[in-house]
Amino acid sequence: MNKDLYIYNSLTSQKELFKETSANEVSIYVCGPTVYSSSHMGHARSAIVFDTIVRFLKFIGFKTNYVRNFTDIDDKIINRGIEEGVRPEDIAEKYKTEYIEDMESLGCLQPDFQPSVSENIPEIISLIEDIIKKGFAYEKNGDVYFNVQKFNGYGKLSKQSIDSILVNTRLEINPNKNFGLDFALWKTAKENEPYWSSPWGKGRPGWHIECSAMSRKYLGENFDIHGGGRDLIFPHHENEIAQSECVSDKKFANYWMHNGLININKEKMSKSIGNIINIREGLKLWNKNIIRTLFLTHHYRTPVDFSSKKLEEIEKTLLNTKKRVPTNESLSTKFKELWVSAMLDDFNTAKAFGYYFKFINDGSLSPETDSEVSEFEETMGISGWRDENIQSKKDTIVDEVRIKQIIFERDRARKDKNWIKADELRYEAEELGVKLLDKEGKTTWEPC
Ligand SMILES: [Zn+2]
Repeated sequence: MNKDLYIYNSLTSQKELFKETSANEVSIYVCGPTVYSSSHMGHARSAIVFDTIVRFLKFIGFKTNYVRNFTDIDDKIINRGIEEGVRPEDIAEKYKTEYIEDMESLGCLQPDFQPSVSENIPEIISLIEDIIKKGFAYEKNGDVYFNVQKFNGYGKLSKQSIDSILVNTRLEINPNKNFGLDFALWKTAKENEPYWSSPWGKGRPGWHIECSAMSRKYLGENFDIHGGGRDLIFPHHENEIAQSECVSDKKFANYWMHNGLININKEKMSKSIGNIINIREGLKLWNKNIIRTLFLTHHYRTPVDFSSKKLEEIEKTLLNTKKRVPTNESLSTKFKELWVSAMLDDFNTAKAFGYYFKFINDGSLSPETDSEVSEFEETMGISGWRDENIQSKKDTIVDEVRIKQIIFERDRARKDKNWIKADELRYEAEELGVKLLDKEGKTTWEPC
């Protein structure tokens, strides 16, 4: 079988033949979550995409070294701790444990390494020292900043010049910085914040430096694949490249892979719209095989619209194939050839799933007797779905996604004293079979 693998590299904006740095091994680093709240479907998509990529790399014979980090030191974690009156490390620990459980519930294999920032402070300090020694960073009043203008090629991943970034960025006023786009490698601790001792005094690392330090520790200065959501391209990944390459004088990651984001009912998922769906909430309604299949029937680079309607369609499609009995001569070898070649072409899971449904539906593939079926399902992380009850709980729980949105929009309308709009939203909820209940300034709902 042809085993040439092509990967779309965000750095060069083209598909390139994959050549590993170390024979038959793939080193892969993916940016993980900041653990300050429950993880949502955006995290689920990124995790499922890279889980499937790693499964496929193993399937075609590579040994993989897969690293995914936890950002467990961050302003958001500290603020959450203050809000709840608990130590930031307890917040981080709670959501780290939750994330690991969520990944297991989604059928994602554990990465080979899951390092946390708090366990890698010496490595981070040592990398910052190297950057300063090379003349790419400066210290001021206990903060250390990266000198963006010094690094040739800043902006190469996001395809922007420093001038165009300046035009498009709202800069904070910070007297410690020499230049507006310079970013913090180390920040002085404010009062009551967690801190670590460093050559620059008590403080903590900036966000970007952790991934440069942890990838260097686990995968070396040059490694194969760096992945993450496309929202991380700028500034996070751009800054990782600058920090790492200025010290090593080597290419940081050979292939950059970015997964597309998700929309909820065609709207961007965001806190300000109030339509965030947590993984554990989602899993109460929909079976993990449905969620995985929804994501994987899209190419990893395209956006996914996550909605009850779409999930129901996937549920129907899967249940349909469950009922099929093979009627034609087995084309299992052909099936394998086709889905593998789709995956070798920039991990086209959407095309691969297309073959899966087609061959089962036209009766030329038997889940009972063709081992190629279980091979495919294993690689997509949906093995065993036939023995599970994959039907969603829609009889008891209505379209919760839309209802959350309605409640949010109605709150806003009521704040604006737009009573007509508020009433319209109430009617819409009733049409979905739901009664809204206002109590002590909060709106909840129950089936009506
Ligand atoms: Zn990162």
